Amino acid sequence: MNHQPFESWLLNEDPLTPQQRGELNLHLADCENCGTLDGSLRAMEKALRSAPMAAPVSGFTRRFQMSLPARQALEQRRLLQRFFAIALLLTTGIFTLLAVTSLFSSGPAAWVNLFLQSVVRAAIVFQQTEDVIGNLIQVIPVPILVLVWIATTLTVCFLSLGWAASIWKIASLGAQTK
Ligand SMILES: [Zn+2]
Repeated sequence: MNHQPFESWLLNEDPLTPQQRGELNLHLADCENCGTLDGSLRAMEKALRSAPMAAPVSGFTRRFQMSLPARQALEQRRLLQRFFAIALLLTTGIFTLLAVTSLFSSGPAAWVNLFLQSVVRAAIVFQQTEDVIGNLIQVIPVPILVLVWIATTLTVCFLSLGWAASIWKIASLGAQTK
């Protein structure tokens, strides 16, 4: 006996036309093979529908929600640390570049001294700023944090530029007075 297209109709989820439905019912009436298939499919469907939903472990949702702010704070702290590391690297890089280009006009020892002092001072300032912001993160809601974040980025950019400009000025003046 030819079981097609009836087998495909049973296995496919596509809805049948009334005519197809009629043909299938006729075939199922005298084909044991397709009748068995139809029966198993219906039984499986019924079992799936009546299977109880796997209940989440008690307290899981609450624990997840409770740990969310903590995880957000951790993520923001990581971003902040990366941001300050990059800002520190950039300013140090700019300063190093300026210092190296000025080495020819001033004494190397004086420049190394100034460079080391600046790096240490910058590290301390960045560390203090980061501590303050890190504490604020625990209290301030996220939208305000984003605004503060943007403001801080701009401020540090301007400060870095100002710092680089003043260093450049000192370097040029030093060259001129010689
Ligand atoms: Zn059949």
